[in-house]
Amino acid sequence: MTRKHETDVVIVGGGLAGMTAAQAARSQGARVLIVDRTELGLATNTALSNGIFSGPTAGYDSARYVDDTLRIGRSLGRPWMARQVAAELPDAIDRLRKLGLQITEKKDHYSLSAGGGDEFPGVRLARVLAGCVRNDDGIVCMGGTWVDRILTADKRAAGINGFNREGRAVEVRAGAVILATGGAGALYLRNDNQKSTLGQGYALAADVGLALWDMEFVQYYPVVMAQAHLPSMMLNSPHPEGSRIMTTDGRDLAEAYGIDDINHAIRNRRDWLSAVLFEEWQKGPVYMDYQGVADPHWNRHPLVLLKKRRFDFRSQPVAISPAAHYMMGGVRIDPTGTTDLSRLFACGEVAWGLHGACRKGGNALAECLVFGQLAGTHAAGVFGGNPRYEGPCDEKASATSSAAPDRLALRELRGNLQTIAWQHAGVVRSAAGLQAGLDGLDGLVPRILELSVDPPEQRRARTDLLSMATVLRAISVASQARLESRGCFIRSDYPEENNAHWLTNSRVEGAAGSGRPTVSHHPSETVHAA
Ligand SMILES: Cc1cc2nc3c(=O)[nH]c(=O)nc-3n(C[C@H](O)[C@H](O)[C@H](O)COP(=O)(O)OP(=O)(O)OC[C@H]3O[C@@H](n4cnc5c(N)ncnc54)[C@H](O)[C@@H]3O)c2cc1C
Repeated sequence: MTRKHETDVVIVGGGLAGMTAAQAARSQGARVLIVDRTELGLATNTALSNGIFSGPTAGYDSARYVDDTLRIGRSLGRPWMARQVAAELPDAIDRLRKLGLQITEKKDHYSLSAGGGDEFPGVRLARVLAGCVRNDDGIVCMGGTWVDRILTADKRAAGINGFNREGRAVEVRAGAVILATGGAGALYLRNDNQKSTLGQGYALAADVGLALWDMEFVQYYPVVMAQAHLPSMMLNSPHPEGSRIMTTDGRDLAEAYGIDDINHAIRNRRDWLSAVLFEEWQKGPVYMDYQGVADPHWNRHPLVLLKKRRFDFRSQPVAISPAAHYMMGGVRIDPTGTTDLSRLFACGEVAWGLHGACRKGGNALAECLVFGQLAGTHAAGVFGGNPRYEGPCDEKASATSSAAPDRLALRELRGNLQTIAWQHAGVVRSAAGLQAGLDGLDGLVPRILELSVDPPEQRRARTDLLSMATVLRAISVASQARLESRGCFIRSDYPEENNAHWLTNSRVEGAAGSGRPTVSHHPSETVHAA
């Protein structure tokens, strides 16, 4: 039997964006329900983050922040979003400080300290916010619930459908729905995201007919552990003097590619370095070698963090690889945080627009705070109210249970999707590779659709696989259609940036269906604003 709930605002996703939106909606007097597939906060990318927030500071004015954001985004970002962050971030940082978080203003960003026994700043952030949200009587937290459909009626969002850990159906009717589902990094074989970050929000949006924008722009972090039995985590900078990036046969890649300073290359030439390391991996593994690092560094940040791992980093090189880190593309919102579907809002990584072709470091957490606040405030209906829709919702055929559960098949299908994404829609792409990837995807989707929806873990996996397929399809067709290299996006067959033709944002429609989606291009708002 379906468990039915009703509320003013239902939020899908309990990361920084979702929890910020919840507090904002609550402060307007709305009743809020947050649904997350895991427990609130800690299984999010927010918890993995380094706690860097970009935005104006005393020494870095708003105009420079906006210019830098749009310049790094290679003129494809949306100026109004950069200006919104410039205007709102300082207040948002103050709100976090009032919760007891220790945030230091640096020259051109804000930095959150770990503390309270937490190793990572992101864990501290997620823990403190989750505590506040849980202690608020007006916010109901529904952990362990997968959302697999946005309910629509009368051309508006009316709630969500999902299922809990036991496989029981859940329905929430709400005046407004906020998508705060994060990104899709774990779609890729190599990534530094939470395993569950598989692009469900993009798939939910595409399923209700929304276009996905700029999906070809995926950011990779160049130096992520790729060693068997070690977590796929970024190796934090600064890498001390004596650190070397090597191949199996002892070639020093800094020397080979004329890199004077590894830290500078990671900070300022990140996309180029990711492409170099990706191409080197086609010949064989690449390693970070810390054997030449002097003793005192092993007691300081960041190498001190490595002491906790079961691997002797002091005497053995560790395999490293670039890895998918962040999705620049996503769902379009307007200045109230509303998507192209009435009463459906979006915030955080799932929302498109601030970053253009490449994200300025620290702008992801900043966008969660600023657009979470925006979405929560407007979803609460401060301007006119968002009454719940009480009538019947649009019908949609649901999957039926046909075959027996098969864990091996699930694992194999997930691995196949991740491999296609990595090899054909990853760091360096080409027309032939993208087509091969789409052909491979076409072969996998019927197998996913055949999977049974029983037991609950198979239903969850099936939902994830379908989301992965939707996102991979959107990334691939958007990449096929962009005949240049720009920001994080590298085409080996079109290696140059082409401002004459490609100062445009891509728009993918129909990514959720089984047919081929359509791609159109629209002049960048940065160019219009200039
Ligand atoms: C290693 C690492 C370090 C980073 N460091 C920084 C940094 O210092 N500064 C910075 O600006 N950015 C950083 N980022 C990026 C930043 O952390 C993320 O972009 C941001 O935290 C995303 O927040 P979010 O609230 O949008 O999503 P998330 O924090 O990922 O939360 C989304 C939640 O939604 C849930 N969910 C998704 N789909 C469903 C569904 N269908 N049903 C139910 N629940 C669902 C997920 O399980 C998850 O709990 C970093 C990222 C990584 C991976």
